[in-house]
Amino acid sequence: MNNSEKFREALKQLSDAYTAQLPQKLINLELIWDKFPQDQWDEACFQTLYRMVHSLSGSARTFGFPALGDAARTLENHLKMLGEAKRALSSTQRDQVYEQLAALNQLAIRQEHTDADSSAAVSAESAVVHASHQIFIVEDDSDLAVELKIQLSYFGYDVSVFNALNDFKAAMQQSRDVVVLMDINFPEDPLGGIHAMNEVQRGRATPIPVIFLSAHGEFDIRLEAVRAGGIAYMNKPVNMGVLVGKLDELTSVQAAEADRVLIVDDEVTLADYYAAALGQAGLSVRVANNPLHVLNYLVEFSPDLILIDMYMPECNGMELAKVIRQLDDFIGIPIVFLSSETDVDKQLAAIGIGGDDFLCKPIAAQHLVSSVTSRIRRSQLLRSFMVRDSLTGLLNHTAIKDQLAREIARAKRLNKPLSFAMVDIDFFKNVNDSYGHPVGDRVIKSLSRLLKQRLREIDAVGRYGGEEFAVILVDTDGQTAMKVMDTIRHDFSLLRHLAGETEFSVSFSCGIADISDYVDVSRMADAADRALYQAKHAGRNRIVLADGESTR
Ligand code: GH3
Ligand code: MG
Ligand code: MG
Repeated sequence: MNNSEKFREALKQLSDAYTAQLPQKLINLELIWDKFPQDQWDEACFQTLYRMVHSLSGSARTFGFPALGDAARTLENHLKMLGEAKRALSSTQRDQVYEQLAALNQLAIRQEHTDADSSAAVSAESAVVHASHQIFIVEDDSDLAVELKIQLSYFGYDVSVFNALNDFKAAMQQSRDVVVLMDINFPEDPLGGIHAMNEVQRGRATPIPVIFLSAHGEFDIRLEAVRAGGIAYMNKPVNMGVLVGKLDELTSVQAAEADRVLIVDDEVTLADYYAAALGQAGLSVRVANNPLHVLNYLVEFSPDLILIDMYMPECNGMELAKVIRQLDDFIGIPIVFLSSETDVDKQLAAIGIGGDDFLCKPIAAQHLVSSVTSRIRRSQLLRSFMVRDSLTGLLNHTAIKDQLAREIARAKRLNKPLSFAMVDIDFFKNVNDSYGHPVGDRVIKSLSRLLKQRLREIDAVGRYGGEEFAVILVDTDGQTAMKVMDTIRHDFSLLRHLAGETEFSVSFSCGIADISDYVDVSRMADAADRALYQAKHAGRNRIVLADGESTR
């Protein structure tokens, strides 16, 4: 790839990132505008708004949204006029700005349709990936095989059962993406499962993942199992929670969003070179050639890492880093300095004020990419500890509520439906009391998995409290949400949980609120909570739509 191709590639990355960020930008504009006081002039707030509109009017056209660019320019001129007077806005003036913001939204909504289409394509694709991972159960005990099949199908897996090794071997000749659950002992051969797998694996470039099921756990059998491609070895009776956890690990394909890097460097060609290098490695890149514009980029682009040149005319890299570190929202963002500086003291000073690393120019593209991506990985991991619940990996209470606020704003802006569901396991205290806390934890995990698997990628699932979950169903009205949640409720109540040799089952109750009835996060959450209480009161194991009907 020559330099101009690299640059085109980088530009394409920028344009994709721009398109992806556009909805968020408009939300941010509205959020800022909502903060603008009714009765006085707020210069700081105004400046933020102005800068955001200015950058929109400057950039929209470049990235292929000419109409949006024009509307933003009109608003920018209007704001410039208001900014000169610096007087509290009359209600007519407020309305005018509001209408112009709404006009931007209209233009972006039209854009969002194509966005929505491409996101639909992504989720359809991930569904295919999941479905293409068929599960083959090979087990001569047909009752056990059928039972496993039923239980796994609740978790959305496509399962085929083979009671005889020969049928399985024949089927494997035409199958690729499968995960095999293989019994070891067959009537004709006590190690029949292992021998069959050895045959199947022979000549394959990538081995078929297989989980062995066995009544015995001797070391030599385990060793043979590993040699036959076994990635797990489970004793019977099978613990469904553990099994599903393994299958999830094997089959989940994360449709990862590209990591975002903001480059701040006044030297245009150099910045473009870094952008091209990072863009080629699959990162989304934005370049700020003027450090004074960085604050806009921070809010709009929401980078995962900032690369800052040490020496720039308007404001040097160290000063810029200090400013960024004083913004609460960006206190944790990794900052990496780029400079031809070789003076160790200066490097230490740069790190001392909150830089995470120091890279010396000239830097090889490969080195740049690997330093940047490893920094991003680490900071994402740290961040995930803050927003994720440790037992289930779901969003924690604060994170799901923040998400709800964002989704409500988006749904209102786009005039789309949205539902919020609260789920609470029934008589959970009994589970703990009868089988112990660790078994209770496994039940919590199995419900969290079921929710994750049954809902779409775009829905958000959180652990609201101990045995309480919260679900945000995007683009879904209350009635539809009832149906979706009711299928999950039904299937969850049929799951068999294992405690030692004892099997038991559990149910949950659920309350749902539809956005069309509520204005904000706390009202919507309260309504869902009240509906949940009604579901409990009416006998549990059912769904209630706030101020509406109930299932069962
Ligand atoms: P119901 O909701 O149907 O009214 O009854 P319940 O028994 O589920 O209600 P309650 O809220 O009184 O009990 C919830 C129990 O969940 C109490 C607490 O010990 C348990 N619990 C909370 N968090 C966890 C957890 O992380 N792990 C386990 N194992 N138990 C938990
Ligand atoms: Mg409960
Ligand atoms: Mg509870």
